[in-house]
Amino acid sequence: MPETIYSLAGKKVYVAGHRGMVGSAIVRRLASEGCEILTASRGDADLTRQAEVEAWMEKNRPDAVFLAAAKVGGILANDTYPADFLYDNLILEANIIEAAHTVGVEKLMFLGSSCIYPKFADQPIVEESLLTGLLEPTNEWYAIAKIAGIKLCQAYRKQHGSDFISAMPTNLYGPGDNFDLKSSHVMPALIRKAHEAKTGHLPDITVWGTGTPRREFLHVDDCADACVHLMKTYSAETHVNVGSGEDVTILELAELVSKVVGFQGSISHDLTKPDGTPRKLMSAAKLRALGWSPRIGLEQGITDAYRAFLKGEYLERKRGDAA
Ligand code: GDP
Repeated sequence: MPETIYSLAGKKVYVAGHRGMVGSAIVRRLASEGCEILTASRGDADLTRQAEVEAWMEKNRPDAVFLAAAKVGGILANDTYPADFLYDNLILEANIIEAAHTVGVEKLMFLGSSCIYPKFADQPIVEESLLTGLLEPTNEWYAIAKIAGIKLCQAYRKQHGSDFISAMPTNLYGPGDNFDLKSSHVMPALIRKAHEAKTGHLPDITVWGTGTPRREFLHVDDCADACVHLMKTYSAETHVNVGSGEDVTILELAELVSKVVGFQGSISHDLTKPDGTPRKLMSAAKLRALGWSPRIGLEQGITDAYRAFLKGEYLERKRGDAA
């Protein structure tokens, strides 16, 4: 195990975005770190308003921050609401990072996404391929905001010596996911479609696009564990990929989800919907070298996500509300 260079024990740790899938998983994971967890509801501070974020930070003075707040959504939501995805994400990360610097936060982790990488980056995608090519147009608005967040952390490190780091999770799924079919990502969409087809005795489920794009998936509890690990053991300018290191085609995913859910019908395609980027597998080499690897396999993870869906532990959002 790598050495702990930043202990969270006894610290005041602010989780921005605690109601979202990632933020709530980080809150669950932090319970065993012996820290005091701080959260801010929208009534306490609207993260898109600089004065409100500054006032909240001044009053609560966290020692460490996990910046997991974001306006998130799947391929269609990104494509439909570009202004919201770019503006909201830029403004909230800028507000939190600047306020964290002002009140002297010791350590901050910014969370991004694998969509920051060029559409045709060599696979598996290494951290160094950032800004080496054009982005996937369907989610470039979100991606540009997330790239700006990485750069903000690097800039504050360079100019002020701030210990601000960035982690880039792959496609995440699990408890707290968004199961709204218009704004969700593929995993929760397929879980819901398979469940509704099974209970409604429908002959098939519809997969958007050709089913040939490849995607990597990580259970959100694994992601939270990796983030806490990095917070304690990593301090450098380069962002770190957080993934499983393995990918599947969308069709393979649909088949696995059908198996877990117990749906025995067929799979059809809606070719009017976009495929998006053909493949998005991140290199897990850096994270492995830093002493972390995932524990939850894909089938086990989907079983857990389906359990959470059945228990109603999910967020029904209209169009990618701030996580
Ligand atoms: P992406 O990883 O940014 O492209 O976002 P998504 O998770 O939304 O989509 C991943 C892939 O799954 C794309 O090729 C989608 O076309 C495909 N897909 C298949 N069925 C669905 C669905 O019901 N919902 C979503 N969001 N994507 C789907």
